[in-house]
Amino acid sequence: MNQEEEIQIQEAQREIAKLLEGIKNDIPIFLFAQPGKNDVFSDAARQAIRFFGQITDKIVIREFNLDHELAAKWNVEHSPTLVFDPDHYNIHWLGAPLGEEGRIFMEALILIGSQQSNLNEQSLQVIKKIDQPRNIKVFVSATCPYCPQQALNTLKAAVEKPDLISLEIIDIQANPELANKYSAQSVPQTYANDILIAQGAQPEELFMLSLDKMEQQTVFIPEIDEQEVETDLVIIGGGPAGLSAGIYAARSGLKSVVVEKGVLGGQVATTPVVENYPGLKQIGGKTLVDIMVTHALEYVQIFPGEEVMGIDPEDPITVHTSRRKFHTRAVLMATGATHRNLKVPGELRLSGHGVSYCSTCDGPIFKGRKAIIVGGGNSAVTEALHMHNIGVDVTLVHKSDALKAQDVLVKNLIQNNIPILFNTEVKEIKGKHNVEEVLLYNNKTEEISTLAVSAVFIAIGYDPAVSLARKIGLELTEEGFIKHDQYRTNIPGIYTAGDVSGGYKQIVTAAGHGAEAALTIFEDMINPYWT
Ligand SMILES: Cc1cc2nc3c(=O)[nH]c(=O)nc-3n(C[C@H](O)[C@H](O)[C@H](O)COP(=O)(O)OP(=O)(O)OC[C@H]3O[C@@H](n4cnc5c(N)ncnc54)[C@H](O)[C@@H]3O)c2cc1C
Repeated sequence: MNQEEEIQIQEAQREIAKLLEGIKNDIPIFLFAQPGKNDVFSDAARQAIRFFGQITDKIVIREFNLDHELAAKWNVEHSPTLVFDPDHYNIHWLGAPLGEEGRIFMEALILIGSQQSNLNEQSLQVIKKIDQPRNIKVFVSATCPYCPQQALNTLKAAVEKPDLISLEIIDIQANPELANKYSAQSVPQTYANDILIAQGAQPEELFMLSLDKMEQQTVFIPEIDEQEVETDLVIIGGGPAGLSAGIYAARSGLKSVVVEKGVLGGQVATTPVVENYPGLKQIGGKTLVDIMVTHALEYVQIFPGEEVMGIDPEDPITVHTSRRKFHTRAVLMATGATHRNLKVPGELRLSGHGVSYCSTCDGPIFKGRKAIIVGGGNSAVTEALHMHNIGVDVTLVHKSDALKAQDVLVKNLIQNNIPILFNTEVKEIKGKHNVEEVLLYNNKTEEISTLAVSAVFIAIGYDPAVSLARKIGLELTEEGFIKHDQYRTNIPGIYTAGDVSGGYKQIVTAAGHGAEAALTIFEDMINPYWT
């Protein structure tokens, strides 16, 4: 080492000493290394911890072979592995802290030495919900500038909840076989209990949320503690209708909130692929939801995981949720609907693999192929006509001897020679990976037959989410949807939009109706129609 290098090292040691100044507790570090196995990395790990050990006497180093009984006790299998303060934590480092990883090592010393996670308030709120063990594996490399951020997140989690959270920081160069096993070709990559929960570096709160939910999260919504919230508009339902209404209402100057009891995005969150939303040729439902939610958050406060239980429609209206009260001038019911299931074997398993509830969404996939539509009402007949029109070889299957659809639709069906199987029930949907055939039962002749098809479209109706609407006395249509006139319900100040209000059940129509409803609400606030 020449004089210049020595000066540089002394300078670095002084800088690091400053950073480690506040450390109060000893940091025992155990190095496990097996001569002949990964010697280059073992030597580098040894040098690194000794370097830090010279700076602060808080680091207490001990070295063992991999066959030592402590290795078995702490499940150490790879050479080299550093085990940090095993009396308090379960943090292992597989490899040597080289390059960018030196920053991670520093952070580990600071957190472990101070026995503080330094998590921010929002992350603490999330991590306290984790009540099951999590083994985190974060794959890093010496040359990855994004790795320290993600590794720091994982360290904070392991320091905050040492009883439940264990951590392995894995250098991919020192552990190519582990990197291969977990397909960790790009770093940082993070697993919890062997499930991939993050690719790339995340903001701290999003990592904690991913660790809690056990899947990668892309949107973080901070929790709000207030028990009473004053606002202009409460939107019930965080599907496309509610989110779009939120954007439009807030842009009109109305203070608005969205309350969602389940998963944000409503039905879209469970849609594998959306192919009919303008501007987005093909997009995963979850990705579309993330885009919508991120956009809506620019304007509205969202209260996820909170159910609206009741509404007092006086002026101001009070909305009671499972967590608080909102005092508001208007309410938009955007609670959605769910399609009915046939409840036959194969339906659930093959859903998204030939079983569909929306011909407008999935019909074009089956152009030139054989499909059945199950149902006999307006939606089933309209969907059969739509499918026929786009070139699907479609047959209508109906359980009774007459269709319930309007005459004009039935005539159209007959004119187009679309086959109808009356008195026929689907008993099973079969197929290995995709729909291949259906088992049919004729309830008049009691005959059982099979029909080879590529798709089964189920159009046997919707169950609109109207229990709350019923409870507060909103009028419903004959089909059970919330009755409205230009989004206005029978109770002044209460509006409705999206699937719960009937009409076409599509993302774009729900979003459009949400926007129109918000503008109607704005106009009514300026000039109330009920006075
Ligand atoms: C599997 C599937 C695939 C689909 N594919 C497509 C497609 O490709 N293209 C397309 O255009 N459409 C598709 N659709 C239809 C589309 O998703 C819906 O039309 C649309 O989501 C309706 O939006 P919405 O906001 O009215 O209701 P929803 O999306 O149903 O959202 C309503 C929300 O309100 C919440 N809620 C209900 N009650 C309460 C309460 N009391 N308190 C708080 N929150 C409450 C619910 O939890 C729900 O999240 C599909 C639907 C399904 C099920």
